[in-house]
Amino acid sequence: MHIAIIGAGVSGLLTALELIEQGCTVTIFDQQQAGHAASWAGGGILSPMYPWRYPREVNHLAQYGKCMYQEWNAKLQPETGIDFEIHETGMLIFDETDFEIGLNYKDQYQEPMQHCEYLEREALEQVNSHVSEQFQHAIYFPQLANVRNPRLLKSLITYLKQHPKVEVIENTWIEKFNFHNHHIQSIQTSNTKHYQADQFVITTGAWSNCWSEQLHLSIPVEPVQGQMLLFKTPEKWLPTMCMNKVMYLIPRLDGHVVCGSSMDHLGFDQRPSVQTQQNIYKACVEMIPELANFPIVKQWAGLRPSSPTGIPYIGQMPEIENLWANFGHYRNGLCMGPASAQLLRQLMLKQQTLVEATAYSPQRLKSNLSNVV
Ligand SMILES: Cc1cc2nc3c(=O)[nH]c(=O)nc-3n(C[C@H](O)[C@H](O)[C@H](O)COP(=O)(O)OP(=O)(O)OC[C@H]3O[C@@H](n4cnc5c(N)ncnc54)[C@H](O)[C@@H]3O)c2cc1C
Repeated sequence: MHIAIIGAGVSGLLTALELIEQGCTVTIFDQQQAGHAASWAGGGILSPMYPWRYPREVNHLAQYGKCMYQEWNAKLQPETGIDFEIHETGMLIFDETDFEIGLNYKDQYQEPMQHCEYLEREALEQVNSHVSEQFQHAIYFPQLANVRNPRLLKSLITYLKQHPKVEVIENTWIEKFNFHNHHIQSIQTSNTKHYQADQFVITTGAWSNCWSEQLHLSIPVEPVQGQMLLFKTPEKWLPTMCMNKVMYLIPRLDGHVVCGSSMDHLGFDQRPSVQTQQNIYKACVEMIPELANFPIVKQWAGLRPSSPTGIPYIGQMPEIENLWANFGHYRNGLCMGPASAQLLRQLMLKQQTLVEATAYSPQRLKSNLSNVV
């Protein structure tokens, strides 16, 4: 079976990986260089932040993130030479308003990654001695990890590009589906080149709404800009991830600390703004005052593919027998990525699914297509 995948972010690349493992042939398209959109810009925390604020469907997929990435890393690293560093730092949350609910949540659901402990100042200092004195207590999630997502993408792309069953076509905007009787025959690029395949997959992240008109659907996915800044501290300097209200710090193994983030509806604008960068800086230094001693080495913004509930659309698109979706992961596409791709592969190949699939179905999207084609 030959499958065309539109969009080479984490959703598209992991979908490709799942499908080639089952013997399929895959062509992946991206309007820009593969792996340079939201999946590159994100932080790589392998759990929804404040999991109790998200539907169970989001947490169900996310709970597989860490172990599935560990397995992919072990498989891909010998081929690519790239370790994408699943860094188990744990996370401290300082926001007191969430202490009780967080501690109750872990008792209720017993998911290892969401296990948390209440820490008084002394215990808190033992876990992370750099935390500001203004925080006298915290809740601590010792098993939470982060993945170094730019390296993850590099590893996936390197592996896929050297695989005999994969073609990656970059800098190519897919504009149109050519249908006949509820069946897509080919896709068309902006310079009218046609590509045929047996099955087609949409993994176009924040751009997914662009398909609404020609599919006669209302696809409620919008770009939500998030900004980040990157400090360089000494190797292994910051021992844990930290979170207060909406801001967080993510240490990488080599001493880089990723800090974010903001949430702004600005269309497809990806320029960081001075004001937002200052807000992030202030919030991060408030948590870890010594960060002010280290240089900021990079800043950027990315576009999250927001969806109304944060539950992604995974499965067959309405009314078209050979069109599939894996988009709309909003703030959690990196942690949900491996399980989302596996679920889609299982649905496409009519295999048993790792979770009950109905809640993710794109049949939720209202369709008028049956009246039109
Ligand atoms: C600042 C920030 C922090 C984040 N932090 C985290 C986190 O800590 N943990 C977590 O789990 N998630 C996080 N996320 C969310 C996560 O990054 C996204 O949910 C995820 O990357 C979405 O992946 P994707 O592959 O669906 O989209 P993308 O990575 O955006 O990929 C979509 C691709 O499709 C291509 N494309 C679109 N339309 C077309 C077309 N018509 N033709 C050809 N190509 C097309 C685009 O060029 C793009 O490369 C964060 C996001 C941001 C912005």
